[in-house]
Amino acid sequence: MTLFIDRDYAAATYDFTIPARKPWSGQLRKGQVLRIVDLEGQQAVDTLLYNLSNTTERYSAQDTLTAQGAAYIEAGTALMSNEGNVMATVIADTCGRHDTSAGACSCESNTVRFGHHTRYMHACRENFLLEVSKYGMTKRDIVGNINFFMNVPIMPDGEVTIDDGISAPLGYVDLRADMDLLVVISNCPQVNNPCNGFNPTPVRVLVWDSAV
Ligand SMILES: [Zn+2]
Repeated sequence: MTLFIDRDYAAATYDFTIPARKPWSGQLRKGQVLRIVDLEGQQAVDTLLYNLSNTTERYSAQDTLTAQGAAYIEAGTALMSNEGNVMATVIADTCGRHDTSAGACSCESNTVRFGHHTRYMHACRENFLLEVSKYGMTKRDIVGNINFFMNVPIMPDGEVTIDDGISAPLGYVDLRADMDLLVVISNCPQVNNPCNGFNPTPVRVLVWDSAV
């Protein structure tokens, strides 16, 4: 399901463009809205959520899929924590297809999927590690993430593939914070599979103080 909401970009209280391949993090107060804009289309945006006041409570892909009874994230999806609380709700979405099963790319998984010659390549796990270390967290705090705009068809037999992205340029997803949040993003640097159209591009993040 897609759901469009017109917002005044000039009225945003925060506006930043995350360069291609780079990490980002920011705080979101309860009731605020974060919009992630896929500026050029077909860009996977790997995202983690933490309870701002207690980061041991964090996004849970398993709880989110179980609560929703669906394999994908879309407009209306409640993003659940490992403690069963709603962290944020997807209130707008122009793409209709976001993955939370395939995880983040890593140097190790790159060597398995694409060969040892890719070992040196920058990956989302390095981005996540750099960013969470600013908040005193380490490898063990990186859990299964959301891949906004990433197209991961799941076949009837359970096979998972990463397919060509279907998000159009300037497509967006809006998250309404349902608790105070730390949001951590890796603007995926992957070039070996089509999740970024083999060409990582910038994304824009904006925050508004209210959902309407
Ligand atoms: Zn990645």
